[in-house]
Amino acid sequence: MSENILTLVNIHKRFGDLEVLKGIDFSLKKGEKIVILGPSGSGKSTVLRCINRLESIEYGQVFFKNNEITSQTKLTRLRMDIGMVFQRFNLFPHMTVLENIIEGPVHIKKMSKKEAIPLAEDLLKRVGLSDKRDVYPNKLSGGQQQRVAIARSLAMKPEILLFDEPTSALDPELVGEVLDVMKDLADDGMTMIVVTHEMQFARDVADRVIFMDEGLIVEQGTPDVIFTAPKHERTKTFLKRII
Ligand code: ADP
Ligand code: MG
Repeated sequence: MSENILTLVNIHKRFGDLEVLKGIDFSLKKGEKIVILGPSGSGKSTVLRCINRLESIEYGQVFFKNNEITSQTKLTRLRMDIGMVFQRFNLFPHMTVLENIIEGPVHIKKMSKKEAIPLAEDLLKRVGLSDKRDVYPNKLSGGQQQRVAIARSLAMKPEILLFDEPTSALDPELVGEVLDVMKDLADDGMTMIVVTHEMQFARDVADRVIFMDEGLIVEQGTPDVIFTAPKHERTKTFLKRII
């Protein structure tokens, strides 16, 4: 019996002639936080996109709670269970903050508005934006929009949340407020996989850091081990460049 909530076995992915993932294996326990590091083009986003099936997988298997989901056709259900926060927040511009958050619960989960609104209000409180309830996204800073996007993902009550460079599109002074929300989620026990270049966040939050290069996991370990005693030359070179 495995207590892993998510397991990837030998995942391969190619785009035409380009082999982007060359056999990715890792697993995640409930409540665990993994940070994925690696140079641009190493396949980090593709790994996340293969997990919630924004990309198909050519070879290998993905298990969610002991069920194989590699060829899962119930993608809506899958994406409720495994939420994703993107670099670009993609809020609906014609909807208020509250409407953005209740959209999924009401239209996908068929929750009543009466139920969805208090849920959204709770989430807005959690991301520190209660006062923006009735505002349109274009009136918000990038950091505030990303916090709404996180609240919107949480509204679906995912069991795992994937973050793909959630602060990379933000002005530097707005990064901290988004990382703080993510740290709160982590403290609350959320199971998370985060692709980020924010090394302090990785040190503070990650149970495990995975370093990828050229479609492979080069090494993985606790932040302490990866940051202070990386074994592989490629990890050392990457960390020197980024820290
Ligand atoms: P990372 O997130 O680590 O920067 P990606 O997973 O986005 O890397 O991309 C890995 C490789 O796959 C890159 O060479 C990228 O150009 C390529 N790639 C990603 N998505 C596509 C796609 N839809 N079509 C073709 N090539 C792609
Ligand atoms: Mg990427």
